[in-house]
Amino acid sequence: NTEITEDWLQNYVDDWVSFYRKQTSEGEVASYIPILKEANQDHLGITILGNNGMTINSGDVDVPFTIQSISKVLSFIVGCMERGVSYMLDRVDVEPTGEAFNSIMHLEMRQLKKPFNPFINAGAITVCSILDGKTSDEKLEPLFELLEKMLGYRPALNVDVYESERDSSMRNRAIGYYLLETGYLESDLNITLETYFKQCSIEVTVEDLAKIGMILANDGEDPNSRDELIPRQVARLAKALMLTCGMYDASGKFAAYVGVPAKSGVSGGIIAVSPPRVREEELPFIDGCGIGVFGPALDDKGNSIAGIKLLRHIAKQWDLSIF
Ligand code: GLU
Repeated sequence: NTEITEDWLQNYVDDWVSFYRKQTSEGEVASYIPILKEANQDHLGITILGNNGMTINSGDVDVPFTIQSISKVLSFIVGCMERGVSYMLDRVDVEPTGEAFNSIMHLEMRQLKKPFNPFINAGAITVCSILDGKTSDEKLEPLFELLEKMLGYRPALNVDVYESERDSSMRNRAIGYYLLETGYLESDLNITLETYFKQCSIEVTVEDLAKIGMILANDGEDPNSRDELIPRQVARLAKALMLTCGMYDASGKFAAYVGVPAKSGVSGGIIAVSPPRVREEELPFIDGCGIGVFGPALDDKGNSIAGIKLLRHIAKQWDLSIF
């Protein structure tokens, strides 16, 4: 019969962050982009932002990291806002692949009409080619403007990470050439890849991720200002894709064991979205929230190993599953 207050929740999350931090040693930091190897394996941080202003910050919440694949949600949203949903869905599908994010295998399937979804690299690179603008900076300007509205500041590009990825990402270039050959790309290949590498290199914190998650939880509306930052239809489509394709080829397990739309990236970030809903039991503070997690030690699918365990634990205890 503990009274659930914000302080109680804070202590609870602190205890579990300490507990799961010990398990970061079971994972490995990403190394295929050379500079990502420098991340601290032991870091683990979480921010939970509730609709009503509840804020829980625990662990390594001040460590900035690059957004990596989580940016794919944002560029897809911006593409939908620029061109309309049906234009985008004519060019990228909404099916999970069950393959790794950077797989080139399915690109050779003869019956393939378009990349499987915008969250695998082939789909995300296609989206970057569709974004308006002649240069990578022009293409990314609306994404930065959206981020500025959501976060209250304009995040910066981590130039070292951008250069490290640009100079090492042979596989993404290979995907780019396949897409070029098959006629999927709508802009110059180099500008498209530059856009993709730059969007992956935007630097954020877990609190930033939680804010984005909270806006998605509210179907695109900022619950504080009441501004609609993302059209409702687009926010809901993005969440459907997060649920089915957001956690690499472990998306099914994440849906089954955690049960909320989420997207992760190879630097160890995760956005999780818990939409408001009617509950049987009264759980104050946590009805509708965005969660940001950062833990650079990854599991074999490329998801933060301790981050997933922490989310799974909290989702179970707080009954966050949308199912
Ligand atoms: N920039 C990374 C790549 O394409 C993003 C990967 C990820 O976070 O999944 O290799």
